[in-house]
This record gives sequence, structure tokens and C-alpha cells, in this order.
Amino acid sequence: AAEEGFDLEDVEGAIEEAGHGPLPVLAVVGRPNVGKSTLVNRIIGRREAVVEDKPGVTRDRVTYEAEWAGRRFKVVDTGGWEQDVLGIDASVAAQAEYAIEAADAVVFVVDAKVGATDTDEAVVRLLRKAGKPVVLCANKVDGPSGEADAAYLWNLGLGEPHPVSALHGRGTGDMLDAVLEALPEAPAQTFAAALGGPRRIALIGRPNVGKSSLLNKVAGEERVVVNELAGTTRDPVDELIELGGKTWKFVDTAGIRKRVHLQQGADYYASLRTAAAVEKAEVAVVLIDGSETISVQDQRIVTMAVEAGRALVLAINKWDTLDEERRYYLEREIETELGQVAWAPRVNVSARTGRHMEKLVPAIEAALAGWETRVPTGRLNAFLGELVAAHPHPVRGGKQPRILFGTQAGTKPPRFVLFASGFIEAGYRRFIERRLREEFGFEGAPIHISVRVRE
Ligand code: GDP
Ligand code: GDP
Repeated sequence: AAEEGFDLEDVEGAIEEAGHGPLPVLAVVGRPNVGKSTLVNRIIGRREAVVEDKPGVTRDRVTYEAEWAGRRFKVVDTGGWEQDVLGIDASVAAQAEYAIEAADAVVFVVDAKVGATDTDEAVVRLLRKAGKPVVLCANKVDGPSGEADAAYLWNLGLGEPHPVSALHGRGTGDMLDAVLEALPEAPAQTFAAALGGPRRIALIGRPNVGKSSLLNKVAGEERVVVNELAGTTRDPVDELIELGGKTWKFVDTAGIRKRVHLQQGADYYASLRTAAAVEKAEVAVVLIDGSETISVQDQRIVTMAVEAGRALVLAINKWDTLDEERRYYLEREIETELGQVAWAPRVNVSARTGRHMEKLVPAIEAALAGWETRVPTGRLNAFLGELVAAHPHPVRGGKQPRILFGTQAGTKPPRFVLFASGFIEAGYRRFIERRLREEFGFEGAPIHISVRVRE
């Protein structure tokens, strides 16, 4: 590294940063209007339009990456929509439940100016049941005079209320310090996996594509309902299902089976459920209704899985209903609408007839294998050396940026760091990704490539 002009410490730092494993998840929950979205914006350090979203407008982005005091984590924002006045308790609770389920720690936001309401109490009960670490945020304490309001919230029995003004940033640093103390270094799922538990699958897709039908088909008589929180009364969420001679954990099947009848915010709710399931899973099986035109919503769901860095399988359902003409157009649609995930294994199934159910497990296994592939540094650099010699980066401004060396910093998904002598254009990065796939496989895996440029 040194002779290429990189400081060894920089190289090691870059590899460590790029190679981070799955990040722990923080959920921000609370009633509408207590300031959840404002707080999330504060935490992610962006003034993006989360708060400006109009009520009822679909917002499918619910997880964000954040960093505080050098530690990275994910934040799940449940502040995306306003409910009808009727049934507010139930919908706040249901939203919070999904978010808490997927989280490793929770920030519970209460409006200190209003004090604790019945809805707040309902969320407190949920938090108790879930048993996850909680940081209590007493929001809207914009000045010292509000501190007394915050102190009242000791009554909730969740420990110290942290007085915060999400709007002005007052107290958020202290609160985030408390969050870091509550948050484990790695997600709980990572520990479960390290202990050799069953692989975790999220079966996702827009409403009516056939998720519950497929689940019923594959589960058959073999279904075992797992209640991970034994002794509690909450709905079981994950199911162990035997498939192809192995046991798999389908996460959040309760969310698939449960019919959620919400008018306003139903889309957002579905997004939250999908995001939570994806966070808990290793591989996402995205189910698509082949009888309908592939929609923006299908694409969004695929994007969620890819952005979360999960292994991906595409399952085209309702194959029994497709005539020759539809199949022709479907192929064209898949090419154009899902071309960015052409690397994902694909199965054409029918949850109704059971067609090709036996192909599901090999596809899932292929995707998990690609997701875990590690290329030894020697092999990678031999490959990069040949590639760069045969296909150099185009000359820009009289200079030719070169990839000097690279390493795979992590797996699940595969993450690469390349060190270059100058700025590498997006087109060339894509070219490298394509060639990496051709050479090493990575079927079903999103690939991260970061490039460090020598100063
Ligand atoms: P959410 O529904 O819980 O996501 O709440 P929002 O983040 O959308 O905030 C609701 C309203 O409270 C907005 O008008 C915010 O500007 C306001 N708000 C949020 N945090 C604070 C705060 O710390 N102090 C004050 N005074 N207002 C706040
Ligand atoms: P979910 O909302 O994704 O869970 O979808 P459901 O499993 O409830 O299915 C929605 C509808 O599609 C139901 O009427 C199912 O009977 C039907 N359906 C699901 N899979 C298939 C399939 O493979 N073929 C046909 N013809 N219909 C299906």
C-alpha cells in the first residue's frame, strides 16, 4: 500500500469502515406529532423532507443510516403518517409493534409539554412486553423552563426521561449517548446466526401477490409456530418451516397473515412491515404477481431489500394464469423494470397449483451462498490487475485514473474497497461490478463497492 501512495493506517481504516457487519437497529416510536420525524432528522443529521411530507402521502423510506460518536446504526422512523382520529390507539400500537419487533433498542418519544397520555401508556405496555432497551425522550423541551415537564415522565416507569428539543437540538447529544449505551454492537439476529440457528427468510411483496397462499403451500402440515417471546400474549411472529430437508425461519409471518384494514396510511404501514421483516431476515424472497404489470410498488420493495443489503430471490407467482402472450410481455417487463437486479435468482411459481415450489429452496440457497462469498485478496488483485490492463479507465483531463489494488472488506453482502489513483466514474464502477459478478458469481447478492482515492 505504502509504495502506491496510501498511508497504511488510511487503508486499514477504509477496510474496517467498508467491512462493517449488519448494523444494530434503533426504532423511534411514539404518538403522532410528538416529534418523531423531527428527531429522526436530527439523528441522521439531515434536514431532509421527512417532516414536510403531507399527511397520508406514501412514504416508503423508513430506515436510515446514522452515526454518533463513531458508531453506526440504523434508525427506523415510524413518524410517516397521520391516522384517523378513530382507532388512534390501535394504529399507534400496531406501528410501534412492528418497529419494536425489528429493533435492538427503542427511543420512545413523548411530548413533555402535553405529558403522558393513555396512548403513551399503551405504548409503554408494549415496550415492557418486548423487553428491549428503551431510552425515554421527553421532547419539546426547548428551554430550561421545560425541564420540570420532563421530570414528570419518571412516572412512566421507564427510567430517566431525557429532556430534548428535537427542533433545536437541545439535549439530543446526551440522549444519543444514552442510545449508544442501550444499543448492542451488532444486531441480535447476528448473534442468533452465530449460534447456528435456522436461516431467516422475509417473504415480501405488495398486497394480493399471493404471500399468504405461498406460505400456506410451503408450510403444509409441517408448520411450527414459534413464539420467540415465550410466556407473552402477543401474536407469534416467526414460523419455522421445513423445506427441502432443512428448517427455515420465515420472519414476520403474522404480518403476512394479518389483514390490516387501515384506510389512511395503509401503504406506509405496509412499507414499515416490509422494512421490519427485511431487517430481521438474511434473504428476501420478493413475490411478484406475474398476471399484472410490474409496478413501481414492486420495484420499491425490491429496492428496500437491496438497500438493506439482503440476499434476494425473485419469485414470479400466479404462473398458472399466464398465457403465452402474457409470458412474452412479462419477460420484457422483467428486463426493463427489474434489470438492476438481473443477478437475483428467479423462480416462476404458482402458490395455487404448487408449481415449482421445489425450486424455491435451491434459489434461496444460491442467493445465500452468493451473499456469503469471499474472494481472497490475492485472487481479487490478480483479477483487478488483468481487468485494468485490458480495459483501462477512460482518460479524463489528460489523466488516467487507475485502480491500484483492492480487497473484499466484508460479506453478507459482499463489500469491496478499491484504492485508486484518481476519481473513478460511475460507469467504470458498474463495469467492475459486472466483471466481478462474471468472475466470482455473487448470485443473489447486492454488491457494495467503495473507492478510495489517493490524495
Ligand atoms: P411525528 O408525527 O411524531 O413524526 O412529529 P413531527 O416530527 O412531524 O413533529 C410534529 C410537530 O412538532 C412539528 O410541527 C414539529 O415542528 C414540532 N416539533 C417537533 N419537535 C419539536 C421540539 O423539540 N420543540 C417544538 N417546539 N416543536 C417540535
Ligand atoms: P397476499 O396479500 O400477498 O398474502 O396474497 P394472498 O395469498 O391473499 O392472495 C391474493 C389472491 O391471489 C387470493 O385470491 C389467492 O387465491 C390468489 N392467488 C395467490 N396465489 C395464486 C396463484 O399462484 N395462482 C392463482 N391463480 N391465484 C393465486
